[in-house]
Amino acid sequence: MPESQTPVLHHLYSGKSHAPSSSQMRTNFNPGTQEPISSVALDDVVAAENAVQAAHAAFPAWSSTPVGDRIQHLFKYKTILEQHVDELAEIIVQEHGKTTAEAIGSVRRGIDCIEHACGAPILMMGRTLPQIAVSSSFCRTQDEGGVGIDSSVDRLPIGVCVGITPFNFPMMVPLWMWPMAVACGNTFVLKPSERDPMSSIRAMELAHEAGFPEGVLNLVHGGPDVVNHLIKHDDVQAVSFVGSTQAGKYIYSTGCAHNKRVQCMCGAKNFSIIMPDANREAAIDGVFGSAFGNTGQRCLAGSVVVPVGEAADWLIPGLAEKAKSFQTGRGCNAKSQMGPLQDEAAYDRVHDFIEAGIEEGATLLTDGRNHDMPDKGYFVGPTLFDNATSNMRIVAEEIFGPVLSVIRASSLDDAVAEVNKSEYGNMSVMFTDSGHAAHRFETTVQAGMIGINVGVPAPMAAFPFSGWKKSFFGDLHTNGEDGVRFFTKSRVTVRRWI
Ligand code: NAD
Repeated sequence: MPESQTPVLHHLYSGKSHAPSSSQMRTNFNPGTQEPISSVALDDVVAAENAVQAAHAAFPAWSSTPVGDRIQHLFKYKTILEQHVDELAEIIVQEHGKTTAEAIGSVRRGIDCIEHACGAPILMMGRTLPQIAVSSSFCRTQDEGGVGIDSSVDRLPIGVCVGITPFNFPMMVPLWMWPMAVACGNTFVLKPSERDPMSSIRAMELAHEAGFPEGVLNLVHGGPDVVNHLIKHDDVQAVSFVGSTQAGKYIYSTGCAHNKRVQCMCGAKNFSIIMPDANREAAIDGVFGSAFGNTGQRCLAGSVVVPVGEAADWLIPGLAEKAKSFQTGRGCNAKSQMGPLQDEAAYDRVHDFIEAGIEEGATLLTDGRNHDMPDKGYFVGPTLFDNATSNMRIVAEEIFGPVLSVIRASSLDDAVAEVNKSEYGNMSVMFTDSGHAAHRFETTVQAGMIGINVGVPAPMAAFPFSGWKKSFFGDLHTNGEDGVRFFTKSRVTVRRWI
């Protein structure tokens, strides 16, 4: 299809689809074929304003709808999504490049968030304590104490909430946010990644089929201008962001300066420690899957591995062997084990990092640039560097691609010290057979999500997604109990009837 005929994506607000009016458009390409697939408005601030107005207008009725009624739409939505898993996965494969299995997995993970949000009647329940005041026998005067005074705290919706999401899980990450937000009685404006927004649109169209009232759920496309309009808007109460540390830092400080509550789940550099006593097959598979699954484009990708002592002797050859035979190809091809990078900029960035690793003196064991891959598309095969050190860019910076670096350590404490040098603290895992070593790791490593004998310790929706250090700005994380608290405000009542 010629670029001039690429379909222009519409916004979705007030329950309807709206053509964009924008001076800047971005063309997105299928990363496996480099064919143009969508054209997205970048600076339609009028649409952003309309979406906030729609959400603001819908808030009074929606927030006073009983929570038991609100979640009926989510139950219905879950059923509809179950019927559209394959369709949604196909869109994700087309616009993001994931393999079909990865795309289906991401839709399933999104459905997990909806199931969790269906528990809102229990999750947002308040607490009560009768007889809160000390009795008069403990007081100097009668006024100080009292009987019959009860107190309770309720959790209430906060208003219009905004979600700003990244390209790497285009359908799942929005579902970290809006199902819980609307279950708690808020209305929502989603600004999906401009790089691959088609699956978010389809998922929101399906939500409208589930009967959410007009204005409860809205979607507006755009880049920084639109984000700025949303995060500074007087009628927006909360901003949930997932993306790079650079953008997250800006959105956190700007949103807070405009009196919003803000949570920013940001970039990552994750380390895996392998002890000599680990189950070899499980460790090699776990590290490999973590580094190269989703083409390394996930915030839980283990992109540095630290074998301790003689673990290096079997781990590194095992990883190199696997890398050589790993099938890299289009996501829609059933044989593909790894798809392309999502766009040309990502492809160029990963090439730059491989060059940097070579220049800085790491040993290139497998070079993903020379892998067996389709001619067209943003493909890079699994790339493995040995003898990396913490001051190299391939270790210090987030690459967000299929590049795994090995730092050799002589003891567990040295390995943990390598992990803790990182500015990021999203996740870290260890493979071992020793409870003692696992305990030492758990109690000394600086990361908010950790795994023992698990390559990707991705929390299910009932648990918070809890990065530390530069991987997170805010205090309440997404999902779990934190998610409920983020999307509600508390109100305390003190009452006496006698
Ligand atoms: P990104 O920061 O480029 O974009 C994320 C969102 O922010 C997009 O919607 C984009 O339009 C917006 N944005 C980007 N720059 C902006 C700016 N200057 N001003 C206002 N808005 C801006 O991130 P990405 O490349 O789409 O996603 C990859 C990043 O997301 C990686 O760093 C990855 O680690 C991170 N990520 C983190 C988590 C987590 O839970 N910690 C999960 C998924 C992805």
